[in-house]
Amino acid sequence: MKFASLGLIDPLLRALDTLDYKTPTPVQAQAIPAVLAGRDLMAAAQTGTGKTAGFALPLLQRLAAQTAPVASNAVRVLVLVPTRELAVQVHESFVQYGKNLSLRTAVAYGGVSINPQMMALRKGLDVLVATPGRLLDLYSQNAVKFNQVQTLVLDEADRMLDLGFSRELDAVLAELPRRVQTLLFSATFSEAIRTLAGKLLLDPLVIEVNRRNAAAKSVRQWVIPVDKKCKDELFLHLLKKKRWGQVLVFVKTRKGVDQLVATLLAQGISADSIHGDKPQPARLRALERFKAAEVKLLVATDVAARGLDIDDLPVVVNFDLPIVAEDYIHRIGRTGRAGATGEAVSLVCADEVQLLAAIETLTGKILPRVEEIGFLPDHRVPLTDAGGQVIKKPKKPKKAKAFTTVPNREAKNAPKRNDAKRNDAKRNDAKRSRRPK
Ligand code: AMP
Repeated sequence: MKFASLGLIDPLLRALDTLDYKTPTPVQAQAIPAVLAGRDLMAAAQTGTGKTAGFALPLLQRLAAQTAPVASNAVRVLVLVPTRELAVQVHESFVQYGKNLSLRTAVAYGGVSINPQMMALRKGLDVLVATPGRLLDLYSQNAVKFNQVQTLVLDEADRMLDLGFSRELDAVLAELPRRVQTLLFSATFSEAIRTLAGKLLLDPLVIEVNRRNAAAKSVRQWVIPVDKKCKDELFLHLLKKKRWGQVLVFVKTRKGVDQLVATLLAQGISADSIHGDKPQPARLRALERFKAAEVKLLVATDVAARGLDIDDLPVVVNFDLPIVAEDYIHRIGRTGRAGATGEAVSLVCADEVQLLAAIETLTGKILPRVEEIGFLPDHRVPLTDAGGQVIKKPKKPKKAKAFTTVPNREAKNAPKRNDAKRNDAKRNDAKRSRRPK
């Protein structure tokens, strides 16, 4: 199938040509005609499926057909996203796809000065991509008006709820015109998302490109059991042994990120980091350096899991498993994108077995375990089943048996431990039977 057969106009087709997009992905093939026709959408499409073009292309086309200018501070298409990184990336996509059209677009997120965002809004915008908190700030300062909003896109809606944006979201929704075309994208469909969809969507086209909550198929995933204290060493060993090129590494805490980066730099390996403590310009710089292959390793917390658009990234390493199982799917969505194959490796210690079980329940499959010689854990990682159950308790390291130190000759004559127990029991029985009743 060709993009032209979806009814896209020439300026968009030319932009796609320069990006070398040859055929629409399944989510694009379904979403583009529906959005062009003005329908609502409920799409279970994870990152890497091409969902951004799935909504951006038809929305740009609808905007291009409008002749009336947009009023000052007004917005026609409002795209809400959970993180700053995703905001930048989605806005970039609008700019790339719309480069042959003269539409006004802008991006707004927190952590940076609000003034340039207010300036951008002054003349009115065809598209505003924003995080919910900053959008409300702008609204409370009368810098943005919602009365001309025609389309609302909720991108990665599950993540917005996970990050605690539901109040902000409700506040924005309450201010929008009564009927707007609404496109809801979510990697997973929790009950909360279904409730939200029930409130917002009118006869939506439902698109489910992957099995519900299933991870992308083109990613080879496996687990290496390891003791917590050996993770650094194992990771350095794998880097060398596997000759990985660029790797995106996920670590649970900000402190953990900084420690791993320090270890890598001390080994002469180029690395940078992205986490919530870093100011936004520093995060974007780290991402740019990684994209430009100036650094080999990007170490990130889950803040960065959404919104990183890095093409053909071959390897994602989960140095720590995520606390929220659904983040696993988002993390590994960085690799195996747009048809490429990828690897997702998780270094798992005994403490993390419940997190592993939760991921296996969510994805409906047991992740294969591959032991790495030289790194077999002292604290075994208990086995799990796809029902999310830990099926074996960790074995404690065996204590040396007392009688193994007894010389052989004596050992033969010495009572065995069970014999000794049995004899004790006999003696106790005898004592009891002797007691007066
Ligand atoms: P997304 O799921 O929207 O984050 O897109 C994932 C990646 O696939 C991005 O790098 C896009 O540039 C790329 N992409 C999207 N649609 C296509 C397509 N039809 N052909 C080739 N690459 C695409």
